[in-house]
Amino acid sequence: MINIAIDGPAGAGKSTLAKAVAKELAIHYLDTGAMYRAAAYAALKSGVDIGDEAAVARMLGSVDLKTVYAEGEQQMVLDGVNVMPYIRTPEISTAASDISALPCVRHKLVEMQREVARQYDVVLDGRDIGTFVLPDAPYKFFVTADAAERARRRHAELRAKGIDKEYNDVLDEMLQRDANDSSRTLAPLKKAEDAILIDTTHMDLDAVLKAVISILRQG
Ligand code: C5P
Repeated sequence: MINIAIDGPAGAGKSTLAKAVAKELAIHYLDTGAMYRAAAYAALKSGVDIGDEAAVARMLGSVDLKTVYAEGEQQMVLDGVNVMPYIRTPEISTAASDISALPCVRHKLVEMQREVARQYDVVLDGRDIGTFVLPDAPYKFFVTADAAERARRRHAELRAKGIDKEYNDVLDEMLQRDANDSSRTLAPLKKAEDAILIDTTHMDLDAVLKAVISILRQG
């Protein structure tokens, strides 16, 4: 199986890039952030305190959370319902970052991610794919951009969805999330030593996609 790891902080353009690479190569795309978001959604929905790991573990054991592909598109199915439309709010972003620090959550979701990687040729985007989930992946990229530029992109993305938030609040939340993600003990956000670093601050998607595809084609 061909596995391509794309890691990086929030708003660096990983998911847009990962989707475009998957489309170009006609392979699957796995948004691993959506898995942590779906777990956070399940916790908020059932009123579980994310600070209480034992309660979160019980909740995870009692729900049916699956990744499925419908016509090639990833869905996160929680107790029979595709929750993808409900998990991209600022509230879920913060809860996902908190819940993702819990070992019981990471172990379960990382196992699901490895299973997808065993089954399909897939581009995975996340924070720890190259360092922890698939350390032997043949292709690894670490995509980043200046924090101000990442916040600008996230702000525009939220506005396009009708979520009105001050730019400074988006920036603050993003920095908080980066700090959380980088400082957790288990599988923090980190560039793998053998990952190729791409700074997208002054690059548009087309330029980044061309660079990545040319590296992949050189093989
Ligand atoms: O990528 P996205 O912003 O959707 O991820 C939401 C949160 O899920 C991140 O802030 C991070 O805490 C967590 N996450 C993670 N490991 C991954 C993907 C996401 O911890 N591989």
